[in-house]
Amino acid sequence: MAPVIIIGSGLAGYGVAKEFRKLDTATPLMIITGDDGRSYSKPMLSNAISKGKTADQLAMADASAMAAQLNADIRSQTRVTAINSAAHEISIGNERIKYSQLVLALGANPIRLSLNGDAADAVLSVNSLQDYDQFRRAIEGRKSIVILGGGLIGCEFANDLANGGYHVDILDRNPLPLGRLLPEVVGAKLQQKLKSIGVVWHGSETVSRIDRSDGRFRVCLVSGQEIVADVVLSAIGLQPNIGLARTAGLTVNRGIVVDQFLRTSAEDIYALGDCAEVVGHVLPFVMPLMRAVRALGPTLAGRPTKVIYPAMPVAVKTPVFPIVISPPAQSAAGAWQIEAEGDDIRAMFMGEGGEKKGFVLAGAIVGEAHKLATQITGLLG
Ligand SMILES: Cc1cc2nc3c(=O)[nH]c(=O)nc-3n(C[C@H](O)[C@H](O)[C@H](O)COP(=O)(O)OP(=O)(O)OC[C@H]3O[C@@H](n4cnc5c(N)ncnc54)[C@H](O)[C@@H]3O)c2cc1C
Repeated sequence: MAPVIIIGSGLAGYGVAKEFRKLDTATPLMIITGDDGRSYSKPMLSNAISKGKTADQLAMADASAMAAQLNADIRSQTRVTAINSAAHEISIGNERIKYSQLVLALGANPIRLSLNGDAADAVLSVNSLQDYDQFRRAIEGRKSIVILGGGLIGCEFANDLANGGYHVDILDRNPLPLGRLLPEVVGAKLQQKLKSIGVVWHGSETVSRIDRSDGRFRVCLVSGQEIVADVVLSAIGLQPNIGLARTAGLTVNRGIVVDQFLRTSAEDIYALGDCAEVVGHVLPFVMPLMRAVRALGPTLAGRPTKVIYPAMPVAVKTPVFPIVISPPAQSAAGAWQIEAEGDDIRAMFMGEGGEKKGFVLAGAIVGEAHKLATQITGLLG
């Protein structure tokens, strides 16, 4: 019997393999991954430097341990190069492998800025354990880091690196941190809190060029300002990995388009995690991914199950100012209602009919998130 093949060994790939194996211990399972197949929790990458963690310490199990645990054939350091959906076949170079069902858990790729200057190719990003290893080695014994992008991941790294004793400059085209997700008052408070631990915020800025300068980097901003730093980290965002699916003729949009059963446009091919666009939603976070994993495991085992998205708050790992965000849908009409007391801020995004559509909690009250989330209408019922 042709195996179920999962491409990708991130939280989505391994997660769905585990759920599938709970219900089906017999069908052959193959996992193919471009990386080394170690299992790890990606969210830990943005707060591990200050804890002195190496990549090896963050890895929870290697590929052979995962193969034993999942009763699966795991092919690591192996890239799938093509999918032939009509023949139910994938290619790894010249090799062809048949599948009974195929799962695309391909993740997302860091967006690369096209920059001028002789050091543009030296900009690092962290989206895997290997990236983390490279970044950690690059900053070892160095002192200063420029972070491009003041969104969730950029701010988490800024807080962590400052806690780890580094000097951090962070810049963003928005005036305030997490500009797309937070009401102004919360962004301003986060900026102030990051400043209190030495992080220098450059709002409404972009980079014009990066050049090497005496073993360091000279980062020129459009405003004319220059920052000299040891390492440049890009955290400007991720782009769902849709290339393989597009070439195979699957429907893609911002992500690989799937319905509520996580079915792509091709028979017996499914997608989930950072690469997927689920009924119009691209949600590159752990909670939606876990919801998808719990639906797809049973579907692969013969019990078609829809993914449900309730409100899924995201915790921003900025310990200097903890924040939890349950973002309203991008298209949602409404306005923020803010209550602030000292450092604690409760912001509700209210729809035009008075309904709660999202929230932001900041400070000591972040623990209320769980209860508040039950009052928000989910994205997919
Ligand atoms: C630094 C950082 C911190 C984060 N913190 C949080 C957080 O606090 N909370 C939260 O909710 N979310 C967080 N996220 C997001 C969350 O971690 C991701 O949504 C999640 O890990 C994505 O998992 P994935 O399995 O979809 O993708 P990935 O982990 O990227 O896995 C993709 C897999 O596909 C494989 N692959 C791709 N193409 C091929 C190919 N052609 N052939 C073979 N294999 C291939 C890769 O090798 C890899 O194994 C964070 C993300 C980052 C980068």
